[in-house]
Amino acid sequence: MTRLVWFRTDLRIHDNPALTHACRDQDDDVCAIVFNTLKQWQQHGLGPRKINLMQAAMMELKQQLAQLNIPLAIVTVDNFADCVSYLQQCMGSQRVSELAFNLEYEVNERKRDIVVGRWCQDHDIIVNKFHDQCLLPPGSVKTQQDEPYRVFTPFKKAWLNIVNNQFAAPLPAPAVRQHNETAFHLLQDHTDITTQADDLWPTDEDSAHNQLNTFLDDDVLRYHEQRDLPDADATSRVSYYLSTGLLSPRQCLYSAWLKNACLLNGGENGIDTWINELIWREFYRHLLVAYPSLCKHKAFKPHTEHVPWRNCEKDFNAWCEGKTGYPIIDAAMQQLRQQGWMHNRLRMITAMFLTKHLLIDWRMGEAFFNEYLVDADLASNNGGWQWSASTGADGAPYFRIFNPTTQSERFDKDGYFLIRYLPELTRLPSKSRHAPSAAERKLCGYPAPIVDHKMARQRALDAFKNTLEVA
Ligand SMILES: Cc1cc2nc3c(=O)[nH]c(=O)nc-3n(C[C@H](O)[C@H](O)[C@H](O)COP(=O)(O)OP(=O)(O)OC[C@H]3O[C@@H](n4cnc5c(N)ncnc54)[C@H](O)[C@@H]3O)c2cc1C
Repeated sequence: MTRLVWFRTDLRIHDNPALTHACRDQDDDVCAIVFNTLKQWQQHGLGPRKINLMQAAMMELKQQLAQLNIPLAIVTVDNFADCVSYLQQCMGSQRVSELAFNLEYEVNERKRDIVVGRWCQDHDIIVNKFHDQCLLPPGSVKTQQDEPYRVFTPFKKAWLNIVNNQFAAPLPAPAVRQHNETAFHLLQDHTDITTQADDLWPTDEDSAHNQLNTFLDDDVLRYHEQRDLPDADATSRVSYYLSTGLLSPRQCLYSAWLKNACLLNGGENGIDTWINELIWREFYRHLLVAYPSLCKHKAFKPHTEHVPWRNCEKDFNAWCEGKTGYPIIDAAMQQLRQQGWMHNRLRMITAMFLTKHLLIDWRMGEAFFNEYLVDADLASNNGGWQWSASTGADGAPYFRIFNPTTQSERFDKDGYFLIRYLPELTRLPSKSRHAPSAAERKLCGYPAPIVDHKMARQRALDAFKNTLEVA
């Protein structure tokens, strides 16, 4: 019997339910496939850095699987429709009797899987699907009225109740196949991948585990106190590994649970708080499945579709380039551009600045983040943007508008983060770095603010209030 494992955003051999399932019997032949769907990813707005990392992670996976004596074909096709036709042809020629994969939840991905599932059914090929992106399958955490939760805190309570009763350890990597007679290795890789090393973001599972373990050993106990300080580097930075599937959420949560005296909640403050963030990640995934219109970039709160967003290219470009004249915004955007990652507090501040101070449509910011973030992920990105824009399920109330200067003074008191990314401000005293005077700006060659905070705040309040009245 030949079993085929179809890898997607689960580029790992540990805690991979589809792979483990396919490898359950040593007598079977197991082979694997992954698609490099370059054009589809570009259509989905992913940027070159993230695409390069995913391709490099596929090459790493190929080596890992080879050590288990499992051949992986990396196949370059344009889009999801091509994946389907390639799979059909390959499953026929390789006499595959079972296909196993871990589910992806976005609309196009789900449509693709339905087509493949139907074809397999018609050709007597068993399909085994698994959930690895969430601890609890989307749709399985419901209110008493059998509705999806729209608010985080009750979702979290219900989620904890279920997980506490069935919290299983991550799966080990499968054993080396003693014999694997599949002719799959004869398949040429249909690929022309050339990847570049990225100094910041490794593409192997060992590095992902080192990142997680170092955080849990060194920083997690202070997480609740320091997670909002961008200069402290006190967060885990595992989001990139989660978004490529080099780590699974179960591996993160299980390690945290072990460290927390086998508690998901009610243990150490730092660990509880970190687990809480991982539950936000689950919440956004559950929402995405319950409300597929989110995949189509519709606002969760329909009335907010009437916000009169300003179509101002000049302001949008200033935001993208980090030239708004608000140091915390500009430094954050430089972090994004240089590292492909931005601190969570800064994501909230920059997103709120774009949608409230500049009154620019959150979808433009969402797309920009999606292109530049190495952890770009539709559910969390959409959730974060709709939270900040007050258009989302459990978003910030529209009248709570962050003042970028006071946020900067509060979370980067001495301006050390600011000068890391805006070295031109180094010569200013710490206090002046958050909002330099006109003379100081001239001295440092730093631009004037593109918008006045007070005016912009009022403009946003009026715009949102009017929308509520229209609705
Ligand atoms: C506007 C905006 C856009 C965002 N876009 C993304 C995105 O594309 N991809 C992404 O993974 N996260 C996104 N986030 C959530 C969050 O900012 C990042 O997950 C976090 O900064 C990643 O850094 P970390 O791994 O050090 O997080 P930690 O603070 O160490 O948290 C641990 C993990 O919990 C999860 N998490 C933490 N905060 C959130 C949150 N607010 N929402 C959902 N999950 C969370 C992440 O998986 C993260 O890796 C966004 C947030 C905002 C406000």
